[in-house]
Amino acid sequence: MVMLNIVIFGPPGSGKGTQSVRLAERFNLKHISTGDIFREELANETPLGMEAKKFMNQGLLVPDEVVVGMLGGKLDKCISEGVQGFIFDGFPRTIAQAKALDKLLELKKMELSCVLFLVVGKEELVKRIHLRGKTSGRADDTDDATIKKRIEVYEAETSPVADYYEHKVKKIKGEGSIDEIFEKLTSAVENS
Ligand code: AMP
Repeated sequence: MVMLNIVIFGPPGSGKGTQSVRLAERFNLKHISTGDIFREELANETPLGMEAKKFMNQGLLVPDEVVVGMLGGKLDKCISEGVQGFIFDGFPRTIAQAKALDKLLELKKMELSCVLFLVVGKEELVKRIHLRGKTSGRADDTDDATIKKRIEVYEAETSPVADYYEHKVKKIKGEGSIDEIFEKLTSAVENS
């Protein structure tokens, strides 16, 4: 079986996390969410978690070297445990991170199969993040200024990553039912 490596891309609230869990199961991939890892580190009050918190609570990006270092370590660990395919969720978020991922994958003789780009309108994003904030317990999902900042940071720093991956990007409308969107993502992966 050919192993896949997928990046799921899109603004905050576009459904990356929800769809990643399903795609990981469908295609037997390890789901790596940098946001989830930081939240776990934070819950455990590790130095990495405390460092990340300063940025997360303001809606800012954690510095590239911190994120890349953490991801490199995680990849090594997973590969040593026998993982052969990944879905990266919330990473890369800058061009520098995308270049670093290219290098890491090259070292491991791995390739990106495709970049799935969930496209969702700004109003819908804000609505979804507020709704998630009611149950997620995430400080960055409840504060209006932080939500606005995260979307601005996405537009300024993260959206250029889609152009970087130009030939690998598959744009998918991320509005509609979770099942409908999953179907579209699945066929995009199967045709990649
Ligand atoms: P997320 O769960 O993907 O929305 O991430 C929550 C927060 O974690 C972001 O707003 C950033 O502060 C931080 N974060 C997660 N992934 C990254 C990344 N790849 N680069 C920089 N910061 C990140």
